Amino acid sequence: MNSQSCNIAIVGGGTAGLALATELKRLGVEGVTVLEREPEAGGVPRHCGHYPFGVRELKRVLKGPDYARALVKNARAAGVDIRTGATVTQLHPNARLSLNTPEGDYELQAQRVVLCTGVRESSRAQRFIGGQRPMGVLTTGALQSMVFLNQKRPFRRPVIIGTELVSFSAIMTCRHMGIRPQAMLEENNRVTVRQIMRPFPALKGVPIRFNAQNIRILGDKTVEAVAYSDAAGQHRIEADGVIISGQFRPESALLHASHLEVDPATGGPSIDQYGRASDASYFCTGNLLRPVETSSWCWHEAVETASRIAQDLTAPIGGTESIALCAADPAIKFVVPQRLVKSEAPGAMTQMQLRLAQPASGYLSAISGGQTLWGGFLASRPERRVLAPLKPLLKPTLTAPVEMHILGG
Ligand SMILES: Cc1cc2nc3c(=O)[nH]c(=O)nc-3n(C[C@H](O)[C@H](O)[C@H](O)COP(=O)(O)OP(=O)(O)OC[C@H]3O[C@@H](n4cnc5c(N)ncnc54)[C@H](O)[C@@H]3O)c2cc1C
Repeated sequence: MNSQSCNIAIVGGGTAGLALATELKRLGVEGVTVLEREPEAGGVPRHCGHYPFGVRELKRVLKGPDYARALVKNARAAGVDIRTGATVTQLHPNARLSLNTPEGDYELQAQRVVLCTGVRESSRAQRFIGGQRPMGVLTTGALQSMVFLNQKRPFRRPVIIGTELVSFSAIMTCRHMGIRPQAMLEENNRVTVRQIMRPFPALKGVPIRFNAQNIRILGDKTVEAVAYSDAAGQHRIEADGVIISGQFRPESALLHASHLEVDPATGGPSIDQYGRASDASYFCTGNLLRPVETSSWCWHEAVETASRIAQDLTAPIGGTESIALCAADPAIKFVVPQRLVKSEAPGAMTQMQLRLAQPASGYLSAISGGQTLWGGFLASRPERRVLAPLKPLLKPTLTAPVEMHILGG
């Protein structure tokens, strides 16, 4: 098989991959290659045909596709080699990749690989949605691709399952194409997005049905209806399509088939405070780290990761011995990073990220071997960003795992 080499190979040309590549070039790193499986780079924003993208990072208010184009343009201008139609099919130890491209398969040997493959929504099967198997059941991402990349209208009267931010963006995508959602179904008794967004669907003429259980899709060839039950009994909504929105999970198929450690809690890679995977020649950034953050957040995260990689190339970060950083309370869904290495190299993440599995309040505490290293008040709901400082935990003397507790909740 053909073999090529580069300095830094970035897997995924979305927000994180492009921001990281551009910053690496700005820092003077040579031989930066972005590998993107789609025919165009730009990632998810390419098919988010709505505002607002780019406010903090580009100081402009853009629609997703314009933002994606701006990121590609900046990367090219900085001298990044962007290879499209290039699907990475395997990760090997010590920064070696297998690729499938229109020109044929080849291997790429890099000094460092950065994984930036993002997130995707859970499928119907992953959400255990029952019923028949008709055509016309799409995730929001698939709908956005059809509408904004192919100008197609897959249905006219769909039901939206979920009430996350992306579910609300599904309403906007539908409006763009003259599609009229019949209802949103939410299994809980309140919307997943922040309450301030609660009136939006009603303003667009889309009722929300709360406490919807046992959701089933009905229809032989195409969708005919969606059935569900609640405390009042059984219901049926006539519809010709279904949008399955949200419940993001990292795009980690490559990871699962590789030698790299995966964190079952996030579904993404297990990383240290420098963003390094269990093989230190692999860094990871962007939404692959955890479901799910905004594009702006991923852009900033990637720029920080770029400076760590640039530093690692000149003065290796070192530190292979690590202790675990983990959740010790059922209300905590995940913690990132998952490992703290004993390295005092500069540039480590300053904050850990947590998400809750259920609403919780109390004293969030980092405890190692019975010693409280840090504590702070927490009151939050699931799917909200929770941050806590990492610095008090980065002590070379620690020997026991650092466990995150919620005390007095
Ligand atoms: C449906 C959907 C809607 C969203 N809407 C918004 C929104 O409105 N606003 C917002 O701020 N955020 C939104 N997000 C969050 C989104 O993840 C971030 O905005 C941002 O795109 C994250 O950047 P990223 O680089 O981590 O991932 P992405 O932008 O997803 O980029 C990952 C890239 O990796 C490529 N890739 C994956 N596997 C391989 C492989 N094996 N080989 C080569 N290339 C590969 C993919 O093709 C993709 O281009 C949405 C996400 C989804 C899934």
